Amino acid sequence: MNDLKNIDHQALLAHLRSSLGNERNSLASFLRYLGEVDSRRLYAEEGQPSLFAFCTNALTLSEAESFARITAARLIRRFPVIHDHLRSGALSLTSLRLISAHLTEENADHIFANVVGRSSRDIEKMVATLANKRAIAQSASDTTAKIGISFPRSLFHDAQSASGSHEPPVLCHKPDRTRYVAAEHVEIRFVANEQLLAKIDRIKGLALSKNIGSRLEDVFDHVLESYLKHHDPARRAAKNRQSKREGPESKKSNSGRYIAQKIKDEVYKRDGGQCTFKASTGSRCPARVGLEFDHCRPVALGGNAANADDVRLLCRAHNRLAAERSFGAATVAAAIARQSQKAKNIGFR
Ligand SMILES: [Zn+2]
Repeated sequence: MNDLKNIDHQALLAHLRSSLGNERNSLASFLRYLGEVDSRRLYAEEGQPSLFAFCTNALTLSEAESFARITAARLIRRFPVIHDHLRSGALSLTSLRLISAHLTEENADHIFANVVGRSSRDIEKMVATLANKRAIAQSASDTTAKIGISFPRSLFHDAQSASGSHEPPVLCHKPDRTRYVAAEHVEIRFVANEQLLAKIDRIKGLALSKNIGSRLEDVFDHVLESYLKHHDPARRAAKNRQSKREGPESKKSNSGRYIAQKIKDEVYKRDGGQCTFKASTGSRCPARVGLEFDHCRPVALGGNAANADDVRLLCRAHNRLAAERSFGAATVAAAIARQSQKAKNIGFR
């Protein structure tokens, strides 16, 4: 590095700009590769439960770096033009994170035309204005679906947003501590005692539900869903209607999937509350949240849960990988799509 002292000012600045260009090129390439790894779910093959875990554990990126890169990689797969904007420096990872929640296939061209080349601070201001509009729209009427979400016309010149809606004069603050920080994203704040924190940590540690993640919002979402499932009359009625439609045969056909609580407790203890998947390198998946009880031999192939040896703990990614190895990726993808549609039909999320 000492030779830098011998470079004149102009050459030094040229090297600096050149390095920045190389860095942007490398980043854009990295994101394309990362998107493809995500698409193939190669992180599971590498013994990691998620792309985020792969980035932090295997690639040793920080959590913030991982989050920004995963967001960008997934957006590039949807909107390939982002790749060129990142290479040229017209868009940054920060800018992408800011607009990510607002991008749709319909408005992408319009939004890119208005954010490319703008500073992240300018974009942050635009997004905050949009979030305020959304908050007011939602508090003003229950018929939010009828109120189109659009960026302020003064900033985005969106002809399509000129649906007669007036610019709201002020942000509507609610007396409780919830506020919109972006469209469809709300910040909720409250002070809790240590007992509540202990309960949250306990639920995170158990993490035996299929849809529970490690984030605090995942835990709350899971607990609230569980409560509504058991106590909301509308949910119970919908479930009863579904059961009647399916008839007693559905229970019988699912009987092989049933795992007794006693077996679950034994398996959880034996596996140490950790995913049991091992990569080809021998390293064990570190996942301790979002775990699922998996039949070692698929039920469709004659497996059951007669004793603990027939069951193991797997994280969601490795449960899916195991299913794909037994039945093929296309079959598993189709089954997941069917389950998702079924859940929507009976009023669950
Ligand atoms: Zn795993």
